[in-house]
Amino acid sequence: MSDRIIPLVDARRMPLPDVGPLAPGSRVADALGRPLRDLRISVTDRCNFRCTYCMPKDVFGPDYAFLPRREVLTFEEITRLARIFKDHGIEKIRLTGGEPLLRRDLERLIEMLAGLGELDLTLTTNGSALARKARALRDAGLNRLTVSLDSLDDAVFRAMNDVDFPVAAVLEGIDAAAAAGLAPLKINMVVQRGVNDHTIVAMARRFKGTGHIVRFIEFMDVGSSNGWRMDDVVPAAEVVRRIGAELPLEPVDPNYYGEVAERWRYRDGGGEIGVIASVTRAFCRSCTRARLSTDGALYTCLFATGGYDLRALLRGGASDAEIHAAIGRIWRVRGDRYSELRTAHTAQLRKIEMSYIGG
Ligand code: SAM
Ligand code: SF4
Ligand code: SF4
Repeated sequence: MSDRIIPLVDARRMPLPDVGPLAPGSRVADALGRPLRDLRISVTDRCNFRCTYCMPKDVFGPDYAFLPRREVLTFEEITRLARIFKDHGIEKIRLTGGEPLLRRDLERLIEMLAGLGELDLTLTTNGSALARKARALRDAGLNRLTVSLDSLDDAVFRAMNDVDFPVAAVLEGIDAAAAAGLAPLKINMVVQRGVNDHTIVAMARRFKGTGHIVRFIEFMDVGSSNGWRMDDVVPAAEVVRRIGAELPLEPVDPNYYGEVAERWRYRDGGGEIGVIASVTRAFCRSCTRARLSTDGALYTCLFATGGYDLRALLRGGASDAEIHAAIGRIWRVRGDRYSELRTAHTAQLRKIEMSYIGG
């Protein structure tokens, strides 16, 4: 019996909703009228970092039971599902994890997904292997890239990733990605009060004028292991105020419906930044994202406590049409809006860990 903190099998076993037949090829909106546009695919639940806000060592230590290989979706299974999701109107696929660059031969998956045609294909990485892999990712057909980097202060960054990984190696990865043609990059910084918030302005300053877009993310209560407290959240409005006091900013309109980052640009033309106010200004109303876990469960919210077992359909001989209909039925009944309803109580619920569900 595994000692995983999340009962994955139970979590996967949400029964498929019964909402009547779905015409073949039809696209759906959920119960709140939101279309299905983005798919995040977790390609591994493993990571070489132990970021204290995501995979804290006391939970994700040597005894933590990661998924055995037979449970993990193959590239062929992922690609088949992605094709069916595309028929549902998916326009963007983001590969994530865990650390996606740890998945062996990831370039082959990217090639297979790029072969599906018109899709914005992107990936979120901690950047540790990027200096080596950027060129191959680009050659395989990756369009864009997001790199997570929580501080330029080496001591702060090493403490946050908790494996003593240096900032310089991530910066090398960022340069390699830009040189490979994956620019402009997005750079994600999760801001935690008293941990790295004193390094916000330095981060903005470092990438101002490079074309890369730094996005400051509010620390969220994902999963059940990171000890989240509202007091640790630095509201996005405060981030904008603190940066704007030194590097004057003005707001920019969103690029598209459902964009999660609020955009701000430097008044002197030095480019832009984004803030992701997932806690203080929830954006559930336009949330078009579905998440596919490493072992093939479909989650309709980052804060879900259960998912739908698509792998059982894949491996049980279901046809494309049947899987398409199942996804449609799941999406039609989706009423998730966790961030709009968040309270100190909901923060205590046993939610699925982000490294498994896909950030
Ligand atoms: N390992 C890759 C990385 O770190 O970029 C991809 C997976 S990671 C789970 C995806 C993103 O989620 C990262 O940018 C990470 O900083 C963010 N993240 C993880 N835990 C978070 C939390 N509790 N609150 C806000 N963002 C979080
Ligand atoms: Fe790993 Fe990314 Fe989570 Fe950090 S945020 S522990 S790099 S999965
Ligand atoms: Fe979407 Fe759930 Fe996040 Fe709301 S809380 S924006 S529904 S993933």
